[in-house]
Amino acid sequence: MTATIIDGKAIAMRVRGEVAHEVAALTEHTGSRPGLATILVGDDPASAIYVANKRKACAEAGIVDLHRHLPADTKQADVAALIEQCNADPAVSGILLQLPVPKGLDGTALTGLMPCTPRGVLELLDSYDVPLEGAEAVVVGRSDLVGKPVAAMLLARNATVTMCHSRTRDLADVCSRADVLIAAVGVPELIGAEHVSDGAVVIDVGMNRTDDGLRGDVDFEAVRQRARLITPVPGGVGPMTIAMLLANTVTAARLQGAA
Ligand code: NAP
Repeated sequence: MTATIIDGKAIAMRVRGEVAHEVAALTEHTGSRPGLATILVGDDPASAIYVANKRKACAEAGIVDLHRHLPADTKQADVAALIEQCNADPAVSGILLQLPVPKGLDGTALTGLMPCTPRGVLELLDSYDVPLEGAEAVVVGRSDLVGKPVAAMLLARNATVTMCHSRTRDLADVCSRADVLIAAVGVPELIGAEHVSDGAVVIDVGMNRTDDGLRGDVDFEAVRQRARLITPVPGGVGPMTIAMLLANTVTAARLQGAA
């Protein structure tokens, strides 16, 4: 068999054509064109080319090009200030900070805050010194709110991440491979002992109101016999969400204060 070659160039051109039509329609409807603020810090030649290409593509699609260029020695606070200024500018529909930023700047801090519940999950794992690098992590649930960001954060910590959802075949088999199992499903006590291998770390994000009270996604009594670490519901991830909300608020205030 000879493989069909996937033509990314053609698909990209199609998408760009569709975007140009949408921009024209939106402009007619609202009277203003969408604008993209590209921010380039420093003079990395590859980054400069990437940004130039993005600006050219914007222009071709009818998007207003609102480019900003800062010198390589710009301080973190000044980049944050520019992002804040763009945020407040009604002409700016989107902001693209070109990464990587020069050494000495913290790109992650500039590109946003981590969502509270997923950040809480990571904080719990770190607080109990759970090794993530190279670990098999299984996340059950793929919501934008919890499952996906948790998976992205675990991946960023070099875990090998598998995501499960309602169409996953043989959930117990997949879950039982996990060193770290995260349940974010919304089905009371879906995860039983058969889903968990001996010594696994189990984090239960579920918060399900049942006739018997608040229940997690994990059958706590059964799973605690097998797991090495497990979060209860209530008293596990829930309080962390609020703690991380406060932590994120302080981070935001610090960034704004720097502006
Ligand atoms: P959601 O948007 O309803 O997503 C649920 C996910 O679980 C979906 O991806 C769904 O798969 C998957 N799923 C459903 N039934 C399944 C099954 N039988 N087997 C495998 N996967 C299944 O829920 P969510 O917003 O992520 O919330 C999940 C749970 O976390 C809820 O109990 C919620 O209350 C709780 N939660 C707690 C906190 C906290 O602070 N502790 C914060 C947020 C959420 P499909 O995508 O295929 O439909």
